[in-house]
Amino acid sequence: MENYYGFENGITGNELYQKGIKQASNLEIDLLKEEVVKISHLNSNFLVHTTNNQIESKVVIIAIGNQKKHLDIDGLNKFEGRGVSYCAICDGFFYRNKDVVVIGSGTYAISEVNDLLNIANNITILTNGNKPPDFRADNVSIISKPIKLVRGNTKVEEIEFDDNSSIKTDGIFIAQGVAGVTDLSKKLGLIIEKNSIVTNKDMETNIPGIYACGDATGGLLQISKAVYEGTKAGLSAIKYLNNRR
Ligand SMILES: Cc1cc2nc3c(=O)[nH]c(=O)nc-3n(C[C@H](O)[C@H](O)[C@H](O)COP(=O)(O)OP(=O)(O)OC[C@H]3O[C@@H](n4cnc5c(N)ncnc54)[C@H](O)[C@@H]3O)c2cc1C
Repeated sequence: MENYYGFENGITGNELYQKGIKQASNLEIDLLKEEVVKISHLNSNFLVHTTNNQIESKVVIIAIGNQKKHLDIDGLNKFEGRGVSYCAICDGFFYRNKDVVVIGSGTYAISEVNDLLNIANNITILTNGNKPPDFRADNVSIISKPIKLVRGNTKVEEIEFDDNSSIKTDGIFIAQGVAGVTDLSKKLGLIIEKNSIVTNKDMETNIPGIYACGDATGGLLQISKAVYEGTKAGLSAIKYLNNRR
């Protein structure tokens, strides 16, 4: 980080992050270092699903940055909406009793597999060359080979691996890496534009009680903007909580 006010010699992203975490700890703010895989509605509150916990909350501020996910698999883009999906809970019912694959190998991929378990017939986790997850279920198998291409006529039909072997499938769910802006937004029903969460000037999203800030809302990708929006989101959240009392 070269241009953020007060650091005349620059500071690495990690250093700045560690300083912020230390500052929060000093203020005795609870800190849970876990990956968020899903946020769902729970009556008038929200349930934040992490690797090992489910946390109920009246408000949620989404500040997860906006890491670009790119999967370089031949043919994948061509079938978006025609057998390629990014949200199991949103599109799973299209694949009732069908065979699907989930591309990914982390906690988020397993969360997507869990959402498909009682819907799809057979589920194959494709790690695309990454380490296979430690996960077992009757109708789930794992293939770790790198993927070469996706094939089909009007919709996805087959996946071919680097070693020229292939499997038939009715649908592909992309769940690589950690859950990002579009992944969390689609499941919650947040409006997104150009892969960013849409908010008003008070950082309110279209769902009361959910706020977003920083790179997650797009626009200028700079710390100064993230800090301003984080402050605004915090103040809006306090106002919302006070009004609910
Ligand atoms: C190489 C580089 C150089 C840069 N240089 C500058 C600069 O000089 N000046 C400047 O102003 N800006 C710079 N930026 C941009 C700046 O880093 C961002 O604008 C800023 O960090 C955005 O802050 P944020 O809090 O919105 O997101 P981030 O800083 O990206 O923080 C998001 C956090 O959420 C976590 N997270 C993501 N998904 C999940 C999940 N599912 N569950 C739990 N946690 C999750 C991430 O691990 C991360 O810790 C640079 C960026 C890069 C990549």
